[in-house]
Amino acid sequence: MNSVQSTSSLTVAKFGGTSVADYQAMLRCANIIKNDNSNRLVVVSASSGVTNLLVRLSQKNVSVIEQKDIVENIRAIQVNITQHLSSDVEAQLNQEINSLLDELTQHALTQLLQYSTKTADAILAFGEQFSSRIFAQVLQSVDIPGEYFNVQQVMKTNSLYGKAVVDLNQLSEQSTQLLAPKLIDKVIVTQGFIGQDSQGHTTTLGRGGSDYSAALLAEALNGTNLSIWTDVVGIFTTDPRITDQARAIKEISFGEAAEMATFGAKILHPATLIPAMRRNIPVFVGSSKEPEKGGTQIKQKVDSNPTYRSIALRREQTLVTVKSPAMLHASGFLAKVFGVLAKHELSIDLITTSEISVALTFDNPSGSTQSLITNAVVAELEQLCEVSVEHGLSLVAVIGNGLTCAKGIGQSIFETINDVNIRLICHGASANNLCFLVNEDEANYVVEKLHNTLFA
Ligand code: ADP
Ligand code: ASP
Ligand code: MG
Repeated sequence: MNSVQSTSSLTVAKFGGTSVADYQAMLRCANIIKNDNSNRLVVVSASSGVTNLLVRLSQKNVSVIEQKDIVENIRAIQVNITQHLSSDVEAQLNQEINSLLDELTQHALTQLLQYSTKTADAILAFGEQFSSRIFAQVLQSVDIPGEYFNVQQVMKTNSLYGKAVVDLNQLSEQSTQLLAPKLIDKVIVTQGFIGQDSQGHTTTLGRGGSDYSAALLAEALNGTNLSIWTDVVGIFTTDPRITDQARAIKEISFGEAAEMATFGAKILHPATLIPAMRRNIPVFVGSSKEPEKGGTQIKQKVDSNPTYRSIALRREQTLVTVKSPAMLHASGFLAKVFGVLAKHELSIDLITTSEISVALTFDNPSGSTQSLITNAVVAELEQLCEVSVEHGLSLVAVIGNGLTCAKGIGQSIFETINDVNIRLICHGASANNLCFLVNEDEANYVVEKLHNTLFA
């Protein structure tokens, strides 16, 4: 078996759900690793579809019959991969998968008896546990010294289930102690998305969080590169599912890519670039299906800084308008409103103000089943002001450079979509974006039309 050459460069390679969906997909990823021996830490997502099944399993009131059905669906996805390995390895992996599925079934029953977000996270984390075990063996089957590593040994978090916050000091210390020595002669395969709190309970970092895990590990290990392998040949000028006119971007600055991720470009988890920017680690995004086609380089300095770089879209936005005559010439009103929101751990996204009212938007991260703005939040705000809550909105963000100083930006954008009702506009805080809200059912139309004009 080949051993990994010790090189000074260390690439953390993250493979998303479609990249580890089946045996053929995993083999393609193994080849990518083989072709570049700086790839020494591999972070995997759950096989495509598995986390969605686990989300359903983690919800309230899932009948025992449905639970069994979900568990069998997951088993089928995973053994469909292991059957391609040698019979010894297949038997050993299937045994591990079966015992993990028994544990999963226990959690699902607990959830049915008494729902908790803690158990929900315990359930959600299983997908990455399966895929990382299997992928380590796929690597070994093609003579790469792959070894499974449980990321929970290093990814310590608080107990905010569903969106846990990682302890960066612990991550750095534990990674240096427990992970770095293994990277000398092994290709370590570990899980994205999951962590562990101080009481040893499993936590998750939020949907799509494997990108962020990989970036955090790259930072903790002083990685020289981060590669995000997915199902498209890089970051596009807009979501290629919305328009076939979207095209791959060769290079993009950290700042612009971070804005894209923040404003909904699903290709990267919103927090991915924060650790990469802290350590100036260049990030590559490419397709594990077509690695030969190259991809997008995200880095600090890029050769061109176009006015328009891309358009991002984030659905399921909530708009809250608070109105109070007491706000007129008064001080401290907004602080009280923000105090209520902070108490409920609600993070405000965009803000616009008028004389006696303030409009605030909130992101409703996909996967969340209940409305973010609960009756309790509304009741508390109503002690201070009139409150209205609107759903069914989408946030469109035009991303680029120098948007606060270029002339004619507003006209180019809004003239193109003058047949659409714009609900709120935010511009001026960042030179890298201009965003606005439109009705959900017009969002695709708006993005497509704007793309045709701005990227003609
Ligand atoms: P993975 O499972 O590999 O993490 P994701 O589904 O999370 O993959 O992200 C890849 C998807 O992101 C693409 O298939 C594409 O539909 C979507 N996407 C949204 N915006 C963009 C964009 N600007 N460029 C490329 N892909 C985008
Ligand atoms: N498996 C998790 C999800 O589907 C994390 C990830 O894929 O990044 O959200
Ligand atoms: Mg993703």
